[in-house]
Amino acid sequence: MKEVKLSLDLADRMGQIYKEMEKGYEQVAVQLKFSCDGCPDNCCDSWFQHHTFVEWAYLWLGFCELAESRQAEILERSRLFISGSEQALARNERPELMCPLNENGRCILYAHRLMVCRTHGVPATMQRPDGQRLNFPGCFRCQELVERTFPDQLEKQSVVPRVERTLLLRRLAQLENELMEGRRHLYPRIKLTIAQMLVKGPPMIATPHCERGRTL
Ligand code: SF4
Ligand code: SF4
Repeated sequence: MKEVKLSLDLADRMGQIYKEMEKGYEQVAVQLKFSCDGCPDNCCDSWFQHHTFVEWAYLWLGFCELAESRQAEILERSRLFISGSEQALARNERPELMCPLNENGRCILYAHRLMVCRTHGVPATMQRPDGQRLNFPGCFRCQELVERTFPDQLEKQSVVPRVERTLLLRRLAQLENELMEGRRHLYPRIKLTIAQMLVKGPPMIATPHCERGRTL
């Protein structure tokens, strides 16, 4: 097996995509006068799975910058998260457990947090490769705000500001493919929580046949 590592260039471009996601989010949040301030909820206990090697590798870069004792604490919480979520899933319930990277309501790896952590909240839209358009209404609190601000249903369709995610998601997919040297389709799909990623360590893939036996 070999580790999937981000080059400096790829890490830089990943960081750029994340920044642009945040910017798009902020613009819509300002237009809607929406913020998380005073929210009784904390989205970091939402059940999300993640799907790319590139985000996993970027998260791992941040994790490696932490002191070993900190890493050990996070891994311990991650194991508890995994067993707790397995129990909930066995009961056919959606797990609701705090992310192991959240401490006292704050994200320890804020600069390395994943796409969904940066985009959940405000309404968004994207076009799938097959042309179908998907609309995301935003979190419950933002939906309430939209209901109050745009009570006319028809008006809501066209006037509500939304983040357009299509181009950034395409760039993310392109980066993923570059990281996997144009062979992303040959590798397994990923469907992992942050806790599972951290416990597994860095992303690893089977060594290609042409590289087996080669000494590094
Ligand atoms: S995104 Fe919405 S639900 Fe989550 S913390 Fe912010 S306001 Fe609350
Ligand atoms: S990575 Fe950070 S922002 Fe994302 S769920 Fe975990 S604690 Fe929250």
